[in-house]
Amino acid sequence: MINNRIRIAIQKSGRLSEESFRLLQSCGIYIKPRKEQLFCHSDNFPLDLLLVRDDDIPSMVSEGTCDFGIVGTNVLQEKLLQRGNDAKNNNEIIQYLGFASCRLSIAVPKSFAYQDITSLKKCRIATSYPHLLLDFIQKNNLDMEITTLTGSVEIAPRLGIADGICDLVSTGGTLEANNLREVETVFKSQAVLIKSPKQLSEEKQKIAKLFQNRVEGSELANGSKYIMLHAPKSALSLIVTLLPGAERPTVLELQGDTTKVAIHALCRESIFWETMEKLKMAGASSILVLPVEKMMN
Ligand code: ATP
Ligand code: ZN
Repeated sequence: MINNRIRIAIQKSGRLSEESFRLLQSCGIYIKPRKEQLFCHSDNFPLDLLLVRDDDIPSMVSEGTCDFGIVGTNVLQEKLLQRGNDAKNNNEIIQYLGFASCRLSIAVPKSFAYQDITSLKKCRIATSYPHLLLDFIQKNNLDMEITTLTGSVEIAPRLGIADGICDLVSTGGTLEANNLREVETVFKSQAVLIKSPKQLSEEKQKIAKLFQNRVEGSELANGSKYIMLHAPKSALSLIVTLLPGAERPTVLELQGDTTKVAIHALCRESIFWETMEKLKMAGASSILVLPVEKMMN
């Protein structure tokens, strides 16, 4: 029997899991999560889910075990450098997803007399990302020693096995708790949707395209707002310039008032209170900002 379902790998449990499920949900793909099940399927879209460790996602996708995957660019790039950038078998980044944002940074104990990057000369740096760190060292002509650890990197300086660390940071809370100071950013990361380089059957290609369009639509909608307001005709051009990321707003006549118009616009950026205050100062009134749920171009 021909299996015309696409397969996506997502992290089983961890920092990527919840948002990955939420993304699929926002694409109208419903999945009944079954406890302790590594394989789930959607009843309303031809998509199956493989729940795995995030480290396994890049190779599962590049080898074609899964057609898509959701993973951090930190893991993606680390595996790519490890395998030695083989362009033919590389996964394609379909979409940056904007969640799980973090940076891979070098941090040193607060007692370390750090001045600039040259202070790290001959230092031993503990990390779970040796290839990303090596790449950074080579690109910056530095001289450091890498100690690879798979976990609990932050305690390495206290154990005396490293002078500093190179680890993922988002808020900096873990560094603070371990008396460490962030000194250099090695790599900036966020979650991405990746696609396998393996050729899909024609039928699967159609499903994959549909899925990609939905993800794109969901991402576009995510950062967008719909704004409606009334504006004096005399201030129309000024007000339009104040709308963040708006393309071709709709301008409508107002019944019973020839001095004003209604403006409707899709804004591709967030609209903050400051923008609304500026719009009001420019003469706008009845300002309404609405969330955008879905979008298709
Ligand atoms: P697994 O068991 O799947 O291997 P893990 O322990 O490697 O899990 P998590 O800690 O859940 O992974 O992190 C998954 C991803 O979340 C990271 O690879 C990174 O892309 C992202 N992330 C965002 N912020 C942070 C952070 N502060 N620390 C670690 N990872 C972060
Ligand atoms: Zn992992």
